[in-house]
Amino acid sequence: MNQLWFYEKHTSGYGVHWRVNQVLHAEKTKYQELAIIDTVECGKTLVLDGNIQVSEMDEFIYHEMIAHTAMNSHPHPEKVLIIGGGDGGTAREVLKHDTVLQVDLVEIDSRVVENSKIYLPTMACSFQDPRLNLYIEDGIKFVQNTKEYYDMVIIDSSDPIGPAVQLYSKEFYLDVHNRLNTDGMIAVQSESPIFYQDVFVNVFENLSSVFDTVKVCLAPVMTYTAGPWSFTVGSKKWDPERIAGDKKQINGLKYYNEYVHKGAFILPQFIKEMLR
Ligand code: SAM
Repeated sequence: MNQLWFYEKHTSGYGVHWRVNQVLHAEKTKYQELAIIDTVECGKTLVLDGNIQVSEMDEFIYHEMIAHTAMNSHPHPEKVLIIGGGDGGTAREVLKHDTVLQVDLVEIDSRVVENSKIYLPTMACSFQDPRLNLYIEDGIKFVQNTKEYYDMVIIDSSDPIGPAVQLYSKEFYLDVHNRLNTDGMIAVQSESPIFYQDVFVNVFENLSSVFDTVKVCLAPVMTYTAGPWSFTVGSKKWDPERIAGDKKQINGLKYYNEYVHKGAFILPQFIKEMLR
């Protein structure tokens, strides 16, 4: 019987194939090509412009790391802004913190939210939380125009193509800095230090030109590229490597814990040298 494969090209010399059970949905939205595919290895998977965004198999690693590492190093994160994250997974993790009173999630493409609610309910469940406000607009404009101040801003954006390009810029990080409280923090997904080294180093340098403290942590996300994926945390006051106060392990987490938190910031020599 013929087999169906999804081919994801990462660089001019690196690509991967994922065997597909069924293409559940595909459309061209106002912003990007969107597909939801059911894969043999990773379960249901959201693909935007040919790049895997989240899969049922390993989304817990990515979402726990982008949320809890920064949230646990801030003693009292109450107001959180998420840019991107239209699948709802990052918001689901943020809402597990009992200090959180308000999450504003700004996703440019309503079709990502609508399809995530249909096909990825274990992530999109966060949209039912009364503390979450959903804004369908460009995160760049939202940050420029909002009058709100936040304790935490999380940039859960797609790769630096299309509408996401500016989300990796120094200007955008400066705008975010101006919307953070005096002890606020920013956490961003900063790509693969191996296969997207230029983006990874750029993010670190751009954040370092705006925030006094910038730290990188790593975790494996199998459906992205081989090797570590990176998360970069900028802070006005708190040390991202230190778990604040008496934070307890949140029940039910599958990847993050206090030892993973500490270990994630210990960088291999070649990555330390990249960031020098
Ligand atoms: N975890 C994924 C990753 O690391 O690639 C990202 C998840 S989420 C699906 C990324 C979202 O960012 C997409 O839904 C995309 O529409 C959204 N996005 C891209 N540019 C944006 C912008 N300027 N403002 C708001 N959302 C944006």
